[in-house]
Amino acid sequence: MTSNDTPRSGTNLRPGSRTVHPPVPSVEGSDPLDPPLYQSHVFGFSDTATTANALATPGAPYIYGRYDNPTVSAFEMAMSDLEGGVAARAASSGMGAITAVLWSLLRSGDHVVTQNCLYGGTQSYLDDLVERWGVTVTPVDAGDPDSVRAAIRPNTRVLLLETIANPTVEVADIPRLAAVAREAGVTTMVDNTFATPLLCRPIEHGADVVVHSATKYLGGHADVLGGVAVFADTDTHERVTRASVDLGATLDPFAAWLLLRGTRTLGVRVARQCANAQELAELLRADPRVAAVHYPGLAEHPTHETARSVLTDGYGGMLSFELAGGRSAGQAFAEAVRLASLAPSLGDVKTLVTHAASVSHRTLSADQLSRAGIGEGLIRVSVGIEEVADLWADFQQALDTAEGA
Ligand SMILES: *Cc1c(COP(=O)(O)O)cnc(C)c1O
Repeated sequence: MTSNDTPRSGTNLRPGSRTVHPPVPSVEGSDPLDPPLYQSHVFGFSDTATTANALATPGAPYIYGRYDNPTVSAFEMAMSDLEGGVAARAASSGMGAITAVLWSLLRSGDHVVTQNCLYGGTQSYLDDLVERWGVTVTPVDAGDPDSVRAAIRPNTRVLLLETIANPTVEVADIPRLAAVAREAGVTTMVDNTFATPLLCRPIEHGADVVVHSATKYLGGHADVLGGVAVFADTDTHERVTRASVDLGATLDPFAAWLLLRGTRTLGVRVARQCANAQELAELLRADPRVAAVHYPGLAEHPTHETARSVLTDGYGGMLSFELAGGRSAGQAFAEAVRLASLAPSLGDVKTLVTHAASVSHRTLSADQLSRAGIGEGLIRVSVGIEEVADLWADFQQALDTAEGA
């Protein structure tokens, strides 16, 4: 390590200034194997013209953390590469990415076509756009290109899909739906959080924008919040970047560094989560206390055939199942698990469960639940990387408890 002896650091300063201007080590003669963490939110310059130029031209050189940062750029490059896009914009959370994209693509009076059941935060933001900005939204069946075609109007700007829906784990027919949108000049935006770029790369199927809650599988260890949007074209990337800089939804460098660290093991984690989920789905299906199992890897799942063509290398780590005992059984199961945790998130190395009717979808009436295809005894499982035999033992004791509830 050498020290970069700038005029501002040096022994001629008094201690009170030296604490503020310590020598900055730089690495010479070797390369760090992993992207360094540049936590600095601002970069210094030697002349005003270069400083002014850096402020005016986003991207290069780095100047201020809300615009960009080398560690955040490293995460964006990694995600753009994994998703097969041309560029990416990281965000402080999945919702930061989703709102920046919708805010920059939509103006008042525009129309959005969405799949029936969206992530709650996305739905809540759309509801606000409807109420305050005069945006209109038409929900459609994500398996049916004809219903998307019928829903598109002259003012439709965005088709919004989720690769794998929550909590029914239905897989959207991205190639056919994106083709319908493209024909009509509509931007297809896909939330790929549940699938990860290892199981699905929506841009390869015709999507224009892919968003992630990086908080989930990309981070993978329940210790960081983040989001990212990946783009198939540079114009949309630039528009969203401008919006994101204005909104201030920028990713923190340390969060980017943690996400890069998480992403390195994404492949082994997701492979194990898929294998565990498939095995648990089959075990649950054979248990008489379970009325139905929803997993795209089961032949009887309504979107199994779509999943076979849209997903590669596995059917994901998310599954849900209906307890024959209904609401009280569902609640009892979620409270009885010991190895798994009752926690409303997903994508962690640990197995997490929630009971939809009393937690994630608690505001829905019995009627709304049934229309969304969610039974009152539905348990959602984000399958972790534990040994599957231990998970099954835990689920069995929780099923025993739920049976008596
Ligand atoms: C969690 C989640 C989000 C929101 O992400 P945050 O990081 O919590 O802002 C969006 N979409 C899906 C599918 C999610 O699971």
